[in-house]
Amino acid sequence: MFFKVTDTLFIGDYIASQQRARLDRHAIRQIVYLGEIAEVADRRRPDGSLPELDAVTNLKDIRVTAVEIPPISQTCEWSDDAAALDSQSAGPYLVPFATQVLDLLRPVDQEPGALADATLLCCDLSLSVAAFFAAAALYRDLAEAPADEVAAILEDHAPAPAEDGTPIDILPGLVAFLAEKEPRALLPGELVAQLRNFRDMGFKLDMNNPVYRRRRLYDIAALRQDFNFVAAEPIYGQDPQATRAVSNQKLLLRCRQCRRPLADADHILPHEPLTGGTGADAGAGAGDSSAPGRLLRKGLASHRSYRADYSHSVMVSHQGDLAASATPVTHAGPESPLARALRPFGGSLCSSFFVEPMEWMLDVTGDPSAMQGKIACPNAKCQTKLGGFSWIGHQCPCGDWVAPAFMLNRSKVDCVLPTQSLGALTSQLRISRQPVPRPGPAQ
Ligand SMILES: [Zn+2]
Ligand SMILES: [Zn+2]
Repeated sequence: MFFKVTDTLFIGDYIASQQRARLDRHAIRQIVYLGEIAEVADRRRPDGSLPELDAVTNLKDIRVTAVEIPPISQTCEWSDDAAALDSQSAGPYLVPFATQVLDLLRPVDQEPGALADATLLCCDLSLSVAAFFAAAALYRDLAEAPADEVAAILEDHAPAPAEDGTPIDILPGLVAFLAEKEPRALLPGELVAQLRNFRDMGFKLDMNNPVYRRRRLYDIAALRQDFNFVAAEPIYGQDPQATRAVSNQKLLLRCRQCRRPLADADHILPHEPLTGGTGADAGAGAGDSSAPGRLLRKGLASHRSYRADYSHSVMVSHQGDLAASATPVTHAGPESPLARALRPFGGSLCSSFFVEPMEWMLDVTGDPSAMQGKIACPNAKCQTKLGGFSWIGHQCPCGDWVAPAFMLNRSKVDCVLPTQSLGALTSQLRISRQPVPRPGPAQ
């Protein structure tokens, strides 16, 4: 397979990278392998040895690079099946590799439009994966480009300019453009959503992006379940006790007993009661649950809120204008600002808030390698039992399966909306902070 996307960008498979005459005809001077490098090498050395890539390709005047994209775990297998790529429970999360690939296509310090060497992106696992990175490169280069430049590449798939001059998202046109070039380069919905996620990060990896953090969390949970592997990578949410003074524009959960801040809105995992769900996959949580791996898959598949995550930043940005201090969730009126702010995080049936693992939990959950346990308030003078955690997951009373589950019981925490007055909040914090010892050093 060998397809031209633009004059300087081609996609294909391993065999395409061996077609010397064709490479020369298109002046291709760079090949980027995407996928499991060992598999590429094994094409040439069936004995299993792993030769250098240059030797594998035997293309001395062509720069050959490999971007290794490992399958995350048994729950996230590679597949050439577009349907599998379309499922966040089975398909790979490609965004973390996009920066690396795009740097090879056009280094950050190079001007857009500068003539780069023609490049072949090749992937044996799925042409959609090569197409994803080609689309990411075009999306970055054209997102802010003048209309005529966009039209020169996307032709009749270029969006018509808005009458009022507001920028138009070129992504739908870009996806249609690629699919028309080659139907096998069709980008499934999940990968299109990942492209949007990449754009939201400013076309580079942002470790604080909530979507990125959540996806990493699910992948790490999968590793725990399948291989009992405890990732060293820090995925713990920053302690709001430490960051609240500068970031006070978000919904806050705090210990009802001692008012110690526990988690920001950014750290609460969106989740919706299954009953009354409106998503296309509502009800996906029902079904077989015979093994932990299956449980996780089920959890991921039923995690409609994860899919909705791509608009997370919009979701939490409508801040209430009231200081609804210490209003219990279950008593919030259906239209109150607090209820509106909490809607993404569950309903009246839900007994807990599901949060990311937080830095302060390292000190209060005991053995960090434990699969499940209890969560207590990190305030040494309080230590109220707040909830529990399970890397395997937990079924909320509303029916939704959440994995991993780090639960703060709703009866044990207060929800505080962002206050109108910054001064009021910080003085409030100062009061609650004084008697609270700092938790252990952040990991
Ligand atoms: Zn407390
Ligand atoms: Zn629930």
